[in-house]
Amino acid sequence: MRAILFEEVGKVRLGDYPEPSVQEPGDAVVRVTTAAICGSDLHVLEGRLPGMRPGSVLGHEYVGEVIATGPDVKKFSPGDRVVGSFPIVCGTCWWCKRGEGTNCDDLRILGYGMFVGDLDGAQAEFVRIPSADHNLHSIDPSLSDEQAIFAGDIMSTGAYIAEKSRIHPGDTVAVIGAGPVGLFATMFALTYQPAAVYVIDLEADRLKIAESLGAIPVDASKTSPTMTLQRATGDRGADVVIECVGFAKTFQTALDTVRAGGTVGVIGVHTDLEMSFPLAEVWRRNVTIVMGGSANVQGMWTKALDSVKKGLIDPTVIISHTMPLEDGVEGYEMFRKHEALKVILKP
Ligand code: NAD
Ligand code: ZN
Ligand code: ZN
Repeated sequence: MRAILFEEVGKVRLGDYPEPSVQEPGDAVVRVTTAAICGSDLHVLEGRLPGMRPGSVLGHEYVGEVIATGPDVKKFSPGDRVVGSFPIVCGTCWWCKRGEGTNCDDLRILGYGMFVGDLDGAQAEFVRIPSADHNLHSIDPSLSDEQAIFAGDIMSTGAYIAEKSRIHPGDTVAVIGAGPVGLFATMFALTYQPAAVYVIDLEADRLKIAESLGAIPVDASKTSPTMTLQRATGDRGADVVIECVGFAKTFQTALDTVRAGGTVGVIGVHTDLEMSFPLAEVWRRNVTIVMGGSANVQGMWTKALDSVKKGLIDPTVIISHTMPLEDGVEGYEMFRKHEALKVILKP
């Protein structure tokens, strides 16, 4: 089969790869009809997250059709149309049973290297999904692949962190990062009837999309987001700040921008092992910090898909490019350079 393969840090290639088959009783094999490139793929590609085996398949956002199942798969049969979750959970451990898939004892991530399961990813014609009953979700026939795909990652991630950050009606919310994750966090934050959602980024094009969703854009390359939020709130700061970038620097901006007694939600993937933390200041200002970890997709995807079906969320607004899987290397290049906001690949 054709697949996008990790070659080495900084390099992906299109190549041939052995077709997957059912290996464990809980497996399903899915024929991928639509895949996408995620900001998290860049952590691997740019060498911030080690452990991706050279020559293995990348990708964890996909929609497809089940073509084979192991004997333990009860919820899906060949022919079913499904969206898959980027975290691969076991579904049976103490955390999974409590609905905390994000803390699963055996948490793996599709197409993300040997420290998280060494599973081949979904930017390919076919993908093997372990514990399929827990890691696939059926798709309502009324929804297109493009409307459903992000339920397995960034849309559910946005819904998850918006919920976890405890937004109250009338709150002033700041979202740091207007990439796909920040834009979904914004869409869901807006459903909590906040007074305003400010979106902070360095790129005008992305801020324009945030504005079209109903947010107030803040260009951090031109103005201080902390000062902007101070001015907007009678010098208090934002009630809730959601960090959707994943740098120590942007986490610091979140701490600086939240009001005393407010909440900082962190969903950007942080790869720095440590940072200097303003402990006394954060303690004195009574800030609640909510770390997201890997988003609890399994806890959110039904809600996310329902929001699309009801017309509350239009996930397709973030898609900037659709191309054949064969052009995936170019897709990665455009995504890296921020010439593309979201790239969809068609095997
Ligand atoms: P992205 O790279 O497309 O978006 C990041 C955005 O941050 C860009 O628009 C960039 O211009 C902006 N940015 C960079 N530096 C900034 C700064 N100093 N101030 C303001 N904005 C700045 O990525 P994405 O797909 O939107 O993902 C965002 C983060 O969320 C990544 O770290 C990704 O790995 C993570 N993520 C986490 C989960 C999870 O489960 N926790 C799931 C999916 C993605
Ligand atoms: Zn992702
Ligand atoms: Zn588990």
